[in-house]
Amino acid sequence: MNCLRRCWAEIDLCAIEYNIGQYRKYLKDGTELLCVVKANCYGHGDSLVIPHLEKLGVKWFAVSNLVEAEHLRSLGVKGEIIILGYTPEENADDLVKYNIIQACTEYPYAVKLNENAAAGKVRIHAAIDTGMTRIGLHGDTASDADDIQKMMQLENLSVEGMFTHYAVADSRDEDCVAYTRAQTDKILAVDDELRRRGVSLPCVHFLNSAGGIHCPTSRSSLARLGIILYGLYPDPSDPLPFEPKPAMELKAIISQVKYIEKGTSVSYGRTFTADKRIKLATVTAGYADGFPRALSNKGEVIIKGIRCPIVGRICMDQFMCDVSAVDGVQTGDVATLFGREITADDIAQLTGTIGYEIVCGITARVPRIEARE
Ligand SMILES: *Cc1c(COP(=O)(O)O)cnc(C)c1O
Repeated sequence: MNCLRRCWAEIDLCAIEYNIGQYRKYLKDGTELLCVVKANCYGHGDSLVIPHLEKLGVKWFAVSNLVEAEHLRSLGVKGEIIILGYTPEENADDLVKYNIIQACTEYPYAVKLNENAAAGKVRIHAAIDTGMTRIGLHGDTASDADDIQKMMQLENLSVEGMFTHYAVADSRDEDCVAYTRAQTDKILAVDDELRRRGVSLPCVHFLNSAGGIHCPTSRSSLARLGIILYGLYPDPSDPLPFEPKPAMELKAIISQVKYIEKGTSVSYGRTFTADKRIKLATVTAGYADGFPRALSNKGEVIIKGIRCPIVGRICMDQFMCDVSAVDGVQTGDVATLFGREITADDIAQLTGTIGYEIVCGITARVPRIEARE
């Protein structure tokens, strides 16, 4: 079956290429690009995006779990893959088999991985909790260095690096800038302490999308590019030195167009009633596609270049919008739900969330197809 023309996401690989090109300009010598491709490339579709990233010469990828990592290998990825999240210790040998680097949260977990690995050495990067308070070693400099040296004693582990994750690198607030600097200082102190003891880890990394731009440093081996890769903002209220190009456009077909009279109510709960005769279109996408129900009576979609207000509640698979301002609209026309003009960040603002959640929330039933100009 070819791609069902109901609701689909068009993925613009040129936009991704542009975003990488712009981002790379801010990285110092010695910092290599890592693309964060967890959650199916933030909802963009890894079978579409990953081959393109490899073609662009990307050598490092990060995912959230082993299933995602194995899927990347099944797509033919030859580069390094790091799992930033949790892997049960009983899967230690899968990490070996697929040559995946695992984030290591604490010494007891390292011991468990070590005990479960029979097929070879599990490659790890020690996580250091410098202020995100999520995962990682969180002692003082000396005890974190001790823990890493203890991990290095475990014979079925190969400790190849350490990393930390920023909590507020996306904000230019004075407090946040100071907090981010303190996080950087903490991981660098562990690195310095290890060097003083004669240990130098090949890979020490701490930049995320925002950090790579706002926190220039030559000491992060990798910059872990996530949200900006996909053309959205780490924090839309904090400008970037370039405008990222959104890579996903969500589109759906109009299945019906009709006039409704003044006094007619629309959709579940009758939350909208026409105050005059209007032209109404039914669009074939709903919250089961990941188009947020919170946009009911709030959002707009674009039809023939014109913004059309969503009226009534968004249903599971359909919603209605007022197309009175659009001439000649008919069944089979395409509505753009978000993309370049109305961005996922705009939708997020309307629904009280972040652009990340909007794109990650596009569900599996929505086909991802390559955009053609
Ligand atoms: C998700 C994630 C990133 C990417 O964050 P962005 O804000 O999308 O750049 C980087 N590092 C870690 C550890 C992450 O979990």
